[in-house]
Amino acid sequence: MMIDPFGRAISYVRVSVTDRCDFRCVYCMAEDMTFLPKKDLLTLEELDRLCSAFVDLGVRKIRLTGGEPLVRRNIMSLVGSLGRHLRSGALDELTVTTNGSQLERFAGELHECGVRRINISLDTLDPARFQAITRWGKYDKVMAGIAAAKTAGLEVKINMVALKGVNEDELDRMVAWCGAEGFDLTLIETMPLGDIDGDRTEQYLPLSLVRAKLERRWSLTDLPDRTGGPARYVRIEETGGRLGFITPLTHNFCESCNRVRVTCTGRMYMCLGQEDEADLCTPLRASEGDDLLRQAILEGIARKPKGHDFVIDRRHKRPAVKRHMSVTGG
Ligand code: SAM
Repeated sequence: MMIDPFGRAISYVRVSVTDRCDFRCVYCMAEDMTFLPKKDLLTLEELDRLCSAFVDLGVRKIRLTGGEPLVRRNIMSLVGSLGRHLRSGALDELTVTTNGSQLERFAGELHECGVRRINISLDTLDPARFQAITRWGKYDKVMAGIAAAKTAGLEVKINMVALKGVNEDELDRMVAWCGAEGFDLTLIETMPLGDIDGDRTEQYLPLSLVRAKLERRWSLTDLPDRTGGPARYVRIEETGGRLGFITPLTHNFCESCNRVRVTCTGRMYMCLGQEDEADLCTPLRASEGDDLLRQAILEGIARKPKGHDFVIDRRHKRPAVKRHMSVTGG
């Protein structure tokens, strides 16, 4: 078990397997993003070694994210090989965060590999709006992907970024739809990560307001559920569904943080909201054994900061953290 300097057990790793994405969501990326050259990426075998070293050190949950994890070529071979840790009991959960575009193809296989729950990002149920938000996304394909996930027996959680003046009028509809489909729903505040074409301060919608609005129509009961992450959960009594609020800006969630993030180039970020990182690529490639790698992971964990202060900087209109979410992994 890895314990950081503030006594937090690190049991969860999120791995960004690619910085590339087939969407260009307006709050996440600029339209003309420059991605990493493919040669800089860890191979799938290296990613497997890296994830397995974390499992050896006591990590119980791995989430593959990105970019869009399911557009990385041959990604299912990584999911398949990591499945061995589920079967051996070393890992409790292997999961994926996806935009849904490739799920028609992969949902069944994900389930066969041992994945039981997935997060799917969906900010709107309106096809024209979907186009405007994702720029390149295909609404029908994503809806078919979501249906495929359900058919495959995957438990689905929908992630919706709450955007002022963009989708705030759809919250009731999304709650009702998720309830009817049997999906949990998590609402996310926009975080100031990476340059985008527009101005994030205009999109920022505090979830405290959202919650107050939802309470006019739905009965929300606070749940004690904690995942060690930034979400706080309520039960929607009318649908029986669970609703999460991720509020990095209005609520500090660091005291229970149980996670680190690794990029597709093998850099470990001990905090989403800070710049400090540990190079895991060099020790990974320096020898065939994993001793150096494990040592580098432990050294990084020993520097995990207490927390962060995201601020949307209204005066300078620049992101608090230069990395895009697609680099560190959402
Ligand atoms: N492509 C996958 C997906 O769409 O879920 C995984 C990566 S994506 C970066 C993960 C999540 O981060 C998505 O739900 C996305 O909406 C969210 N996200 C991206 N940039 C964000 C930002 N600046 N603030 C808040 N959420 C953001």
